[in-house]
Amino acid sequence: MPEAPAKPSGLPDTPPNVAAASREAFAAWVDEEPQGRAFGQVLVRPVPLAGYHLCHIDDAGSVDLEIHDDPRAAREIAKLTGEGEYRPLKSSPNLRRGWALRLNGVPGLAVAMNYLYPAGIIHWYLHREGRLEITDYRENAARQSGIYKRIQRLSDEGVQDAARACCEDAVCLKKTLWNVDSGTPLEMDRGNGHIPCPEPCSIFVSFARRVRLFEREKKRDLDAAGLSPSEKEDLVALVETAASGAGKLDFAREAEFEKPLNERRLRYRRLTLIPKLHPAQAADNPNE
Ligand code: SF4
Repeated sequence: MPEAPAKPSGLPDTPPNVAAASREAFAAWVDEEPQGRAFGQVLVRPVPLAGYHLCHIDDAGSVDLEIHDDPRAAREIAKLTGEGEYRPLKSSPNLRRGWALRLNGVPGLAVAMNYLYPAGIIHWYLHREGRLEITDYRENAARQSGIYKRIQRLSDEGVQDAARACCEDAVCLKKTLWNVDSGTPLEMDRGNGHIPCPEPCSIFVSFARRVRLFEREKKRDLDAAGLSPSEKEDLVALVETAASGAGKLDFAREAEFEKPLNERRLRYRRLTLIPKLHPAQAADNPNE
């Protein structure tokens, strides 16, 4: 079995009173807004005397949705994308559409939300209360062992680029609250969503490991044109895919960072390779 990154320290054992308080606070927050609240890609609407109605935010006006009354149906809903791919990161903006949940009370609402966005309600509540503990990158990295230990040597610049590539709203809807360390804030668009991210997740740790490998390559394996082996591998894969006539880029799976056509990996290349190949274009588009 492949080695896994150390689990986030987050909330190993949520005290029952915090879990209950977060459920009630979340329901009250939803009840305040008759049009409903967007939480990630889920629209949560209060239904007077009936409970709550949940659906994908883009399905707000749809009438032909598959209706579920059991909050545990959210587990299957959250598992796969619309294309049938496993979703390793539930906060990625790839929640499938076509479903609705009719839930008759606060406990069911909390169960469903926990499958759709694990720990999302509790983190939202603790952040609102000013009690959410934040673990910065360096602290998280210090806990890693085995093949993930090498992320301790990732440069600050590497952490910044990895966070921009891995954590912005285009690929993760959580609001990034952690920093490189207490004196080095992340310089990125942290997102506008309601779900806080208090600590680098296992997907980020795995991506940081790949970025560290890229950094090492750059120190010793550059060719005459200044390109590293993995940069050339990515460029070849992109050209071959484009030349094959496929209308749409067929990305590698979300957590397959060893594959050239991984979306986060390509986002990282946009940050690091485009400036190298085309400095003027990078200067024109400093935020891209
Ligand atoms: S570390 Fe980044 S990718 Fe992971 S949950 Fe937080 S914001 Fe999302």
